[in-house]
Amino acid sequence: MVLFSYFGNMTVMRPSLLQWIRCTLLSLVGISLIGWITSCSSISSRSAHLNRWMQAENPELLRILCTTSHIQNLVDAIGGDTVLSLVLIPPDLDPHSYELVKGDGEKFSRAAWVFANGLNLEHGASLHTLLTEQTNVTQIGHAIQTQAPERILWSDGFIDPHIWMDVSLWALAIDPIVDQLSKLSPEHRDFYHERGQNLTTTLRQFDQELWQDLQQISEPNRYLVTSHDAFRYFVRRYLALSNETPEGWEKRLTAPEGLAPEGQLSPLDLQRTMLFLQEHRIQVIFPESNVSPVSLDKICKTARQMGQPLRVCTTPLYGDSTGGLSYIEAMRHNKDVLVANLGRQ
Ligand SMILES: [Zn+2]
Repeated sequence: MVLFSYFGNMTVMRPSLLQWIRCTLLSLVGISLIGWITSCSSISSRSAHLNRWMQAENPELLRILCTTSHIQNLVDAIGGDTVLSLVLIPPDLDPHSYELVKGDGEKFSRAAWVFANGLNLEHGASLHTLLTEQTNVTQIGHAIQTQAPERILWSDGFIDPHIWMDVSLWALAIDPIVDQLSKLSPEHRDFYHERGQNLTTTLRQFDQELWQDLQQISEPNRYLVTSHDAFRYFVRRYLALSNETPEGWEKRLTAPEGLAPEGQLSPLDLQRTMLFLQEHRIQVIFPESNVSPVSLDKICKTARQMGQPLRVCTTPLYGDSTGGLSYIEAMRHNKDVLVANLGRQ
């Protein structure tokens, strides 16, 4: 009787169900189409900018090549209309392993100057070699390391290159850029210095905003699992307790893929991450915009099989890429996602 009634209702409802399926399929096609159009539009916009950069003939305009968008943001903020900047590594690719592709060599030969992150971020062999051999390169991380060696982090003998994740540390990149642009275009020295000072003020205020807002997350919830180890500077600056030693705050994060997201998840990585999740009763883990979520999905599946409630955050964080946003927008996005997900646990 119940079965009859159920199918009977189904018969009555069939036209609206078909309509619903049709609408859903059309919506999915529409969403895919919008995504495809947006992606094409973004690629087309990057291609137009590349053409403009390659063909610029104004000798007063400094043609600057930056390996990452984090660096480009600083260069643009300081150089204003006197520079034309280009990012070498596309936002959806891994800067750790990026290798030169056709056309990249010409970008290097046309650039008046190259700003790279350094600290072995760009360790793809072909790019690393070029950055080492070229004489018109500033490795920003090395300049920051010279200014504040005690603030540079190391992990198992390897230097941690993710210095942009601490805004107060990243602000130390401003002076080396101001100095270099001033050498390239001495008539704009005062202009660069003034804009550099304004940017320093902006970043210091933004650093305080991030710190203040992240204090909303209670101490027991200040544990972070991300795809790879891009967030150690971030945790030290914004999630560590006041006066917490490295032995303390280093235990507040783990990342199954280590310092560079190139390897596959090993059984040991999986075991280590599972222990971390259990020890700190973690309920949510965070993917990154330019790293495959496969490892985190596997961890989530394993945790659930063991009866532990765990979810992968549906909004990725920006680790190695700003995903087309400005540096400040990307960092603010990270803060908002963490407060929304860890602050309510
Ligand atoms: Zn990284």
